[in-house]
Amino acid sequence: MTGRNLLESDPAPQHHPTFNPEHFLLNYISTRGGESLNLAQIITRGTANDGGLFVPQQWPTVNARQLAELTGGGYADIAGRVLKLFGADSLPIDDITDVVARAMQSFPEPVGPPVEQITDGLWTLELMHGPTLAFKDFALAPLAEIIATLLGHQNRQATVLCATSGDTGAATVSAFANRENLRAVVLFPEGGVSDFQRRQMTTIGADNVLALSVRGDFDACQHMVKALYQTEAANIHGYTAVNSINMVRILLQTAYYFRTSGLINSKSGKPVNFIVPTGNFGNIYAAYIAKQLGAPINQLIVTSNDNDVLPRLFESSIMQCNTTVKTISPSMDIQVSSNFERLLWHIKNNNGAAVEAAQQSLESNNKYVLSEAEMSSLKENFSAMRCTESDANSAMQYMQNTHNKLICPHTATAVHAYLQLQADSTAETVVVETAHPAKFSAAVESATGIKPEVPAHASRLMQSDEIFQTVEANIDSVQTSIDGFFARG
Ligand SMILES: *Cc1c(COP(=O)(O)O)cnc(C)c1O
Repeated sequence: MTGRNLLESDPAPQHHPTFNPEHFLLNYISTRGGESLNLAQIITRGTANDGGLFVPQQWPTVNARQLAELTGGGYADIAGRVLKLFGADSLPIDDITDVVARAMQSFPEPVGPPVEQITDGLWTLELMHGPTLAFKDFALAPLAEIIATLLGHQNRQATVLCATSGDTGAATVSAFANRENLRAVVLFPEGGVSDFQRRQMTTIGADNVLALSVRGDFDACQHMVKALYQTEAANIHGYTAVNSINMVRILLQTAYYFRTSGLINSKSGKPVNFIVPTGNFGNIYAAYIAKQLGAPINQLIVTSNDNDVLPRLFESSIMQCNTTVKTISPSMDIQVSSNFERLLWHIKNNNGAAVEAAQQSLESNNKYVLSEAEMSSLKENFSAMRCTESDANSAMQYMQNTHNKLICPHTATAVHAYLQLQADSTAETVVVETAHPAKFSAAVESATGIKPEVPAHASRLMQSDEIFQTVEANIDSVQTSIDGFFARG
């Protein structure tokens, strides 16, 4: 590794018992105007009843002292403060920070993800050292701990259902394996995930995990998970949603944007740009929340692979999904960027009916158009850039040859954007590393000639036996498999 790891100068984690954000409890409303609920009520919910996503009814106000506490300290402390700001007091949990800290024990760097300076003005945020080597761990490990704690208090059982194109399934299996009151069922597309990703889901050897290889694509998996929620079994088994639109997952991710911008700002005195490899728009939306609350953040830069639905929106004002194409960065092979609906709600001035109309139009005509005012509101905080397969290969080569650092093909889309951008002397720029290169070793080796080393804590995978069931892409086949799994006790 090159550069200086700021972790060495990280202050020891501190508790701030006085962190006392709200006199009232923040509520969440649907982006389409329906339901208003508290955090405890939405923590295991997918979409709202009207099909919308839950968003905070307003941004919590943060004073200068609180902002200092949000941008300093370890990951668990900051995550605890973020959750409190956003209504965690509605949860029957004494100390949410302790629960997050417990989850972080499974990380090689429990204090938080490493922030490294690569060269003048360029930094990386290494989100890929968690148990399953992708940033999803930062949300799913603490979320699993919180849900397990809640179920323990209530003496209840639940079953987590997850459709995955790889990384979310791996993080879910790791986070929920061997938990007493919980079972996890993951559905992945047969042949649609890397060997490494599949093994992360199939070699865990935990009684409470069922891995299903589905003879269909990711959309089929996602469709069946949605259908399973509508079945009678949903109540009996207590199906729970921890998918990528879960608001608590996003809030947990907000913590590393506060921490990283705070660390860099305290060294440089400058605000920070984040370049984020984007699929479902969850990770970059977390950065946007940190910015709204006052973190020293300047621009947010979305990057995409050939599935460039968001860069096209920025260029044309038109949201329109094409057919998904397979790339070397499969976790970004997405055309329906679900969490963008949350941003749409902000740029349409919290108008649920207008969001509903746009989403309806996207569903029936595969299209909505943003007005000039909406586009300028979008561009106040965001820009977007695409990265072709050959751009990504060049970016991996550049990082290896110039900075002696192997990066994954998702991260490569962000490095490509950095190389395209004009040098910005008024801000520091952070490339967000979303996965470990070892997870995508074929693509990395083909670009750089170097086979990335698998970190010791993840190397067990390649030896253990795989356990999974193969099912047809229909609900009966999946249901039969799940019933058999539950009957086993
Ligand atoms: C999930 C994922 C992304 C996309 O993140 P979103 O929050 O869906 O935008 C990017 N890179 C990797 C490696 C991922 O696993």
